[in-house]
Amino acid sequence: MNLKNEFQDFFDTLHPKYFDKKRYVPSVGPEDSKYMLIGEAPGANEVDQGEPFVGRAGKRMDDILSDIGISRSELYITNLVKIRPPDNRDPKNDEIDAWAPLLEKEIEEVNPEIIITLGNFPSRHMLDTKKGISQIHGRIFTREGQKIMPVYHPADTLYDRSKGPELEKDLRKAFDKEESGQQKLSDL
Ligand code: URA
Repeated sequence: MNLKNEFQDFFDTLHPKYFDKKRYVPSVGPEDSKYMLIGEAPGANEVDQGEPFVGRAGKRMDDILSDIGISRSELYITNLVKIRPPDNRDPKNDEIDAWAPLLEKEIEEVNPEIIITLGNFPSRHMLDTKKGISQIHGRIFTREGQKIMPVYHPADTLYDRSKGPELEKDLRKAFDKEESGQQKLSDL
């Protein structure tokens, strides 16, 4: 079954209180991507443009990805909850539980080499932990044979600039593009 059908089957069973067409943002990216990024939930910009991570946090993420040499078109990008929570509040546990079966289908279908969870909510959900992102980011965990790396949410790096280099370092590790330490002529 392809993901389009999986999404349709899921919507047929999702309780209407967890769906609102006007706040829904679908996932993007190749269904055979090596990399899956899981965010928390869409914001207003994402709803306007119908795509995850296109607001300020998304631009920040794109800049880091381009420094690393990865284009977002190579990535499958999704969210834990695919409806924008009202007033930008955090997603609630029952919302996360309601949307979780679709995320599992996406993981099964894309079967990425590594899943990168952005920030506390998707990291805690995927790793079944209460630990905070600052304690666990940058480490590769295995869940049912699937590699998962939690990293800071790009929005965290907008509020705390010191987290930007941490996010870049972790993403380099996840994409296997770590810097060799070799100096470039331009560094002279
Ligand atoms: N933050 C998220 O977690 N997801 C988005 O799609 C956008 C911002």
